[in-house]
Parts: sequence; structure tokens; C-alpha cells
Amino acid sequence: MLSLLPLVLPLALSAAPLAPDARGAVAPDRTFDMERLHLDVVLHPETRSVSGTATWAVRRLSPGPLVLNQVGLVFEEVTVAGELAIWRVEGDTVVVEVPGNGGDVALRYRATPRDGLHFREVGPDGYAEVWSQGEGEDNRYWFPGWDAPNDRFLYTGSVSAPPGWKTITNSGHDMVGYLVMLAAGPYEVHGDPMNEVWAAPGTSPEGVSRVRERVPGMMAHFGARTGVPYPWGSYRQVFVQRFLYSGMENTSATIEDRWLVSGPSTGGTRRLGTESVVAHELAHQWYGDLLTSRTWRELWLNEGFATFFADDWQETLEGPEFAAAAALGRFRSSLAQEPLVGRFHNGVENRNVYQKGASVLQMLRVMLSEETFWSGIRTYTTRHQRGLVETDDLRRAMEEVSGQELGWFFQQWTELATVPKLTVSHRWDGQLRVSVTQAVDADHPAYTLPIEVEAVRGEERVSQTAWLTGGRVELVLPLAGAPDFVAFDPRAGLLAAVKQ
Ligand SMILES: [Zn+2]
Repeated sequence: MLSLLPLVLPLALSAAPLAPDARGAVAPDRTFDMERLHLDVVLHPETRSVSGTATWAVRRLSPGPLVLNQVGLVFEEVTVAGELAIWRVEGDTVVVEVPGNGGDVALRYRATPRDGLHFREVGPDGYAEVWSQGEGEDNRYWFPGWDAPNDRFLYTGSVSAPPGWKTITNSGHDMVGYLVMLAAGPYEVHGDPMNEVWAAPGTSPEGVSRVRERVPGMMAHFGARTGVPYPWGSYRQVFVQRFLYSGMENTSATIEDRWLVSGPSTGGTRRLGTESVVAHELAHQWYGDLLTSRTWRELWLNEGFATFFADDWQETLEGPEFAAAAALGRFRSSLAQEPLVGRFHNGVENRNVYQKGASVLQMLRVMLSEETFWSGIRTYTTRHQRGLVETDDLRRAMEEVSGQELGWFFQQWTELATVPKLTVSHRWDGQLRVSVTQAVDADHPAYTLPIEVEAVRGEERVSQTAWLTGGRVELVLPLAGAPDFVAFDPRAGLLAAVKQ
């Protein structure tokens, strides 16, 4: 048993539900490889609209026209390699005939977006401002694009706004469509490009320091853990009014809600809550941005990692007890009866990808040992940086460094909807006997689990680890007398519903 400490749960992005794919495919087919996007946009806050040109450099993969996502855009001109193109609007797409093997496709358009690009104005808000939120597939409301996360491209862009406004877009990086961002408003800019804060005029120095002070330490820590130094050359946090979530990890330029920087500092939990969001979004710069889940169904490779690494950062500050408390919190909130990996490309939109995803990493860490686990993380991260990932990529990396076959582990923890139901009891009859029973029925297949028990009597401490593969296991531990206490799963490495 572990003592319960106050829980700090990350307040993080949960993507909006996406429409199911009619064919049940895990990702849409690609006719072209999207190589580069250049975006020139002009914001018109007074009419809540945008106009601009999106130029895509595309390379043919298979026969057929270029299909781009869009909702409600009005196209004024479409060219391919400078020549007027044959094109049409078809539902929520624009379809362009591209001769030959590809080229530059330029689309001049305007839009009054009802999503994706959000306008704030004096009256309901403190000041006029425009910001974007791409994830899940909402950038299509303000530029024609490729919104599935199965294609990385180089993004460059520029944004024009009314005089006196400052604008930012995360130009110059390779990313998938939902990570393209912009923000525009009367911001004040604090710090230097590697740790910059964009916030409302008059934001207190204390607020700015609250969201900046730990960033260098987090960057160094995540760099050491992952084997890859912070990859983007600059890091900016942009604080906006009435954001949809606590934070969104756009490549090199996170957008976060203004309360994180302008809310009152109440110390303790509040500071920890802010820090947890800052750490979560920064961890996404590796997991989500540098390595991106290829399909929405495996979003846990973004969200589970960001949740796990935010806890890992907190553990370096608060000590191992924090990890135990965080793990316990995750365990309780991840008992939802859902598989971690969704069946279809629209994926699972629940807390599972955060909490159960982080729990799966914690289980691997306890099972494989600290050294092996982090070696596996470094292998996975180094090998797949600037790429798209699937759960199998993580499995292979962990198998290589550990020498163990882990198919069974990933199958039961990412594909099954249930968690194991365990009953733990112990008795003392001259030796300590700990019995662990797994309920196996039609709804609960037998899980294979490493079971760890630790017993303490005064200064005496004994432990035993065994595998539970069927219904029941009994562990016998020698002790000089009856134990002061018996801890089941003392390192919090087991995602299970446990009845003591
Ligand atoms: Zn997240």
C-alpha cells in the first residue's frame, strides 16, 4: 500500500471529437507527399475574417488529384506551377488536378472561420486578439491543408495584422498540419528567444517569471532523458484570452491560457498546477512535435508521453514520493474500460491517452529497470526524431535494449479495454504469506503481471517479485515476526483495480 498525497493532474489538451472515417481506415490515403507549405495571411479582425495564399509544394505518390481539407473557404484563384488550374470544391475539400509528378500549388482564398481561428475583442475581453488552434483537424477552417497527422512538411509563413499588433507564426520548422499556429495581438514580449513569453500588456513580472523560471531546467532535463537536446532553436509561450484548453504544443510556440500567467499566485498547488502545464507542453516539443503519432488512434504516443514527462520533471523536484502519488492518481483515473489504442483513425478521445498512456510507461519503467527503460526511450527518440511513430516503434526500441519480447505487454495494455482485477490478502503463520488472486471471466482475460510485495518489520525489510500469469499466486516471505506493514506494488508499477 502507498500513502496518498495530494494529486496534481495535468490540465492539458483534449482534442475535439473527429468525424469517423467511413471506411474505418486508420489514416487517410495520400496521393501526394506534402513537402512544403508557405502561408501568407492577412488578418481582418474587424470582420473576423482572413485572406491569403497557401502555396503547397507537392510530390506525386499515386494517381489522382490533390485533395486538401477546407471548410467554408472562398477560393479566388488556384494555380499549379504558375498556370491556372482545374479545380473544384467538393464537400469539405478542395480538389486540384495536378499534372505530372507535382509542383507548386498556390491557392488564393478568403474566409470567415467559424473554428480553428479565434477572434477576441474589447468588450467581452480585455483587448482585441486573434489566435489559432489546429488540433484535432481545425486548421482547415482558415487555410487549405492536410489535417491528418500522417505527413510532415516544412512550414514557412507570414502574418499581417492591423498597425500596432504583434504577430507570431511558427515558421521554419518541419511539422504536421495541426501544429501550424499563429497569434496576433498587442503583446509584450519578455525574455529571449530560447525562453520567451508573449503576454498581455501590463502582465506582472511575477506572472512572467512564474511561467519562465523553470523552462531552462526542464529543457536540460528532458534533453538528458530523451538523448536529444531541445530541437527547435527557439521556444515561445504565447498567453491568450479564453483559450480552449490549458495549453497547446504548436512546434516551438506553445499557446496557453492567460490565467496561467495573469492569475493570482497562491503558491503551493497553484504554482505546481501552472508548472505542470508548462512542463506538459514543453515535453510535447519532443513527443508530439519531434516524434508525431502517425494516426489519431495512437495519440497516447503524444499525450501519454507528455503526461509522463511532466510527472518525471516534478519527481526531480519533489522526490520519488511524488512519482508514487502521480502514478496512483493516473491509475485511478485510467481505469476507464477503453483500449488505449483506438480501432479507427478518429481514435479515442478520453483521459485514457493521458493517464493510461503515462501508466503504461511507468509500468515499463518499473518492469525493465530505470537504466533499461531510459536507454529504450533514448533509442526510440533518437531513431524516430523528425518522423511519424506508431506503438510498434516504441515496442521495438524497448525490445532491443532489454532483450525481452514485449508483444504480450503492449497487446494487453494498449489493445484490451479492461484492466486486471486483483484481490490481495496476507496472513502470518510464522512466515508471511501473501496471496494475489486475479478475477478471470468473460470480461476479464488473464493478464500477465509482475507482482511485487514488500514487507517491513522495524528495520527489517524483505521483498519478492513473481509473475502472475493465471488466476492466483502465493508469495512466502521470511520475517522474524508479524510485519508492521505489507506493501503491494511498492514502486507503483501496476495498472490494476486492487482490492486489499
Ligand atoms: Zn498534451
